[in-house]
Amino acid sequence: MSGIIVWIETKNGQIKKLSKECAFVAKSISEAKNIPYAAFLVNNSELIDEVKKLGFKKIYNTTAEELENYSSEGYAAAFSNAGKEFNATYFIVGGSALGKDLAGRTAAKTNAGLSTDIVEIDYTSEPFKVIKPVYSGNLLAETEMNGEIKVLSIRPNVFTEMEDVGGDAEVVTNSPDTQNIRAKVVKAIQAALEVLDVAEADIICSGGRGVGGPDGFDVVKDLAKTLGGAVGASRVAVDEGWISYDHQVGQTGKVVSPVLYIASGISGAIQHFAGMGTSKFIIAINKDPECPMMEKADFAIEGDLFKIVPVLNEELLKVKSRA
Ligand code: FAD
Repeated sequence: MSGIIVWIETKNGQIKKLSKECAFVAKSISEAKNIPYAAFLVNNSELIDEVKKLGFKKIYNTTAEELENYSSEGYAAAFSNAGKEFNATYFIVGGSALGKDLAGRTAAKTNAGLSTDIVEIDYTSEPFKVIKPVYSGNLLAETEMNGEIKVLSIRPNVFTEMEDVGGDAEVVTNSPDTQNIRAKVVKAIQAALEVLDVAEADIICSGGRGVGGPDGFDVVKDLAKTLGGAVGASRVAVDEGWISYDHQVGQTGKVVSPVLYIASGISGAIQHFAGMGTSKFIIAINKDPECPMMEKADFAIEGDLFKIVPVLNEELLKVKSRA
């Protein structure tokens, strides 16, 4: 019998939300194809009870000193070996920076077909069909995956997060062969972000050329703080040096899919949309009612962002203080 294996990505000792979304995808395929799903966990044995709650049949608990930091070769070898043991025909990873790397390496190792940035899946289809954005999000491509083994990398914040369904997964402890790791990450240095990372946030407040300069970002940052969200930016704002690159959203920045995206002074160029077009709700604040961002937004507020954003922030603070 074939199966499904999911990489459980962790951060600061916690299972990433994206991995719970992967677990949901695995469960949905499992129900449609009537095959079991397993988890692949690296150097996080203390999370086994948490992982069990996601309904897996087996957990491949991999421990190795050499995999303390992410290693392309080491992780791909261990993931494909665990998959082989489980007879996996579906390998699922989240489309994070590391997940994208792991997906490609794993596909090469297992001689699999690879689909990345998946936003929709036809679970019962035969051949298996997935949908992904192409051409900066201007088209959705339906892809048939014909090979026996498939590697799927899913776009963050698009699929439902797996709930706690309980379960009593069998835990298989394995130490992978790490002798062939040629490149090793010796140290990971955390960037000093003032606020949440855009790639992780459910709410993003972004600013573009319309903020006019580094100080103009203050109103956007205040709003993000009130909403508990992250600060995003268009490429123009980054290129001008008003804010650092790790805030950039878009084709050459980060791809995000938050529940709420508030774009202030951003026109909505296709390259920006490529990075945030799948946001659940978009609010645009702009002087130009006809710019693409205003046309595509769920709520469009026409006017000067420096008049609108502070008032919005003030009203939200009042609501928060009453809660
Ligand atoms: P503009 O397009 O200049 O828009 C500014 C907006 O602010 C206007 O709509 C204006 O009406 C409004 N405005 C001005 N003042 C105010 C005010 N006081 N109140 C309210 N509204 C105001 N861009 C990205 O963002 N991310 C990318 O990853 C990216 N990658 C790219 C890759 C390539 C290969 C190329 C060619 C381009 C890329 N770009 C990217 C650039 C992209 O094409 C646009 O130039 C950019 O997104 C525009 O940024 P903007 O909306 O901030 O600026």
